[in-house]
Amino acid sequence: MKLHEYQSKDLLERYGVPVPKGRVAYSDAEAVQVAKEMGGKLVVKAQVLMGGRGKAGGVRLFDSPEGVGEFVKDLIGKRLVSVQNPEGLVVEKVLIAEQIEIEREFYVAVLLDRDNRQPLVMLSAEGGMEIEQVAASKPQAIARLLVDPAWGPDDFQLRALVKRANLPPEVSSQMASLIKRLCKAYLESDAEMIEINPCAWTSGKKLIAADAKVSIDDNALFRHKSYQEGSTAAVADPIEAEAAKQGIAYVRLGGDIGIIGNGAGLVMCSLDEVTAAGGKPANFLDVGGGAQADRVKACVELILMDSNVRGLMINIFGGITRGEEVAKGILDAFQSLKVKIPVVARIEGTGAKQGLELLSGSSIVPAGTMQEAAAKIVQLAKA
Ligand code: GDP
Ligand code: MN
Repeated sequence: MKLHEYQSKDLLERYGVPVPKGRVAYSDAEAVQVAKEMGGKLVVKAQVLMGGRGKAGGVRLFDSPEGVGEFVKDLIGKRLVSVQNPEGLVVEKVLIAEQIEIEREFYVAVLLDRDNRQPLVMLSAEGGMEIEQVAASKPQAIARLLVDPAWGPDDFQLRALVKRANLPPEVSSQMASLIKRLCKAYLESDAEMIEINPCAWTSGKKLIAADAKVSIDDNALFRHKSYQEGSTAAVADPIEAEAAKQGIAYVRLGGDIGIIGNGAGLVMCSLDEVTAAGGKPANFLDVGGGAQADRVKACVELILMDSNVRGLMINIFGGITRGEEVAKGILDAFQSLKVKIPVVARIEGTGAKQGLELLSGSSIVPAGTMQEAAAKIVQLAKA
C-alpha cells in the first residue's frame, strides 16, 4: 500500500529522519488558513499517489502565503498527469510545507531486492531528476548496499556506501545517520520501498527529506492498523479499489483482453499465452478456489468496468471450483450486463462437461486448451 507524501514523512519523522514542517489542507480556504499560520516561504504539493508531480505542475514554491489560495483552488479537483502515470489522478488534498533552501539534491532509497532477497539501499549524488534515467545511462552513479534484515546496516558499511556514492565529505555523516534511520523505519514498518528524492542538502548545511514515498507490504497491513484505515481509498486505480473492497485479486495491466482464471499460477499462464498470441492482457484476476456463480458474475462485472476491454478469456481448471458454477456465473453476468464483447471459455476438470453444455446455447466460444483460447480471443478482439 502506497502512503501519501505527508503520511510517509510522518512515519519517517518518528524515526528521527529530518523532514520539513508541513500540514495537509483539503480546500483552498483551509490552505490559506494553514499558509497564514505557517508564514514565510512555502511549498505547496499535490498529494496524489504518483511520481513526477513537479513536472506535472503539482508542486509550486511561494515566497509568502500570498498566492497559495489561488494555486490550491486551481489544483484541487484537477487531474494531474505525469510520465509515470499517464492516466492521471485527481488531486483531493495538498501538503503545505516550509520551503527549504536547497543547495544540492541527492537520491536515497531502500527497497526489496528480489534477486538477493534482501533490502537494498541505493544512494546517488545525482538526485532530483528521474533516477530511472541515471540508472539507465550511468549505473555507476548509484551506490548500492545490501542490508541484513535481522541486524540492519553496520556503521562501517554505511560509511563505505557514502564514500562509493562520491557525496561531498561535509554531507557524509548526516547521510550515514539518515540512511540508518531509514533502514530501521523500513524494517519495522514492513515497508517494500522508501524513496527520498530529493534528499536535500540545505544552504544551512542540513540534510533533509524534501520528498518521501513509502510503500507498505499489503500482507503486513494487519500489523499496521493505522495505515489500513482507508486503505482501499488509497488504492490509486478505481477498479482495483473496487476489487479490494470485494476481496477479489485483481490487478489492472493496461491491455484490452480481460482475463479470468482460477488460481494465480493458471492466471499468470493465461497472461503469457495471450501475450504469446499477440494480445495485451487487460488484467490479472483470480476468482479463487470454489467460486460460486455470484462471485464469477462479480468478476465479469469488474473486468467490464475497464472500458479498454475488447474481449474476455475465461480459463478454468476445475477442482474445488466447479465448471458448471463458473458457467452459471458467466451466463448470469451476460444476462444482467448485456455483454457485447466476444468471450472465449476454456473449462477443464470438475464439472467441465455440464459447464460447457450450459454455455452451448450462448454466444460464448468454447476452447479445448488454454493456447487455443488465447489465440481465439486475440483474433476475435481484433475483428
Ligand atoms: P515529485 O516531482 O512528485 O517527485 O515531487 P517533489 O516533492 O520531489 O518535488 C519536485 C521538485 O520540487 C523537487 O525536485 C525540488 O527540486 C522542488 N522542491 C520541492 N520542495 C522544495 C523546497 O522546499 N524548496 C525548494 N527549493 N525546492 C523544492
Ligand atoms: Mn520527488
